[in-house]
Amino acid sequence: MSKVSIGLRGWRFDEATVLDDDGSLKPLAQMPEEPRERIARLATLVTEPCQACWLVHGEEGRQRCKQAQVVYGEPLGEVLLCDDHEVDFLYWFREEGGADLAGSRLVQNAFHQWFADGGEAPEDYGGMEHVDTDPDELVQPDPAPELDDLETELSNMSEEERDQLNIDLSDLDL
Ligand SMILES: [Zn+2]
Repeated sequence: MSKVSIGLRGWRFDEATVLDDDGSLKPLAQMPEEPRERIARLATLVTEPCQACWLVHGEEGRQRCKQAQVVYGEPLGEVLLCDDHEVDFLYWFREEGGADLAGSRLVQNAFHQWFADGGEAPEDYGGMEHVDTDPDELVQPDPAPELDDLETELSNMSEEERDQLNIDLSDLDL
């Protein structure tokens, strides 16, 4: 089964689990719980800035932050990064013990702390290759429309229907 990323690189989904035959996003209610939670989070995350940029510039410099291109970590403990800062995360994850926290929401805080303390990848660190050349990966060229549909879907649901999905939508502006 081929894997796809929706909206941001990083998290990957079984194509048949999240997309209909025509390539559009399935209704959330038809997805298994785990991908459903991540897809719903992505609707919020695609418009967020890179967290490393944000740590550099602060809220008052938010317009100088690049938009996130990639997401790592777990739902509600995501690490959002631009292309420039992804290498810092990969370095931390592989060389600075970050992998010990894989699968945990603690990844976010731990990486932020390391980065805020001046952590960064060495200049010659070639961390990107495996991410960009993964043969399974099929990045959506223009993912935004799908996630727009998702926000419409969510905002058209009743409170009850949303409750039944059993996902945390508190960040969504519905
Ligand atoms: Zn950045």
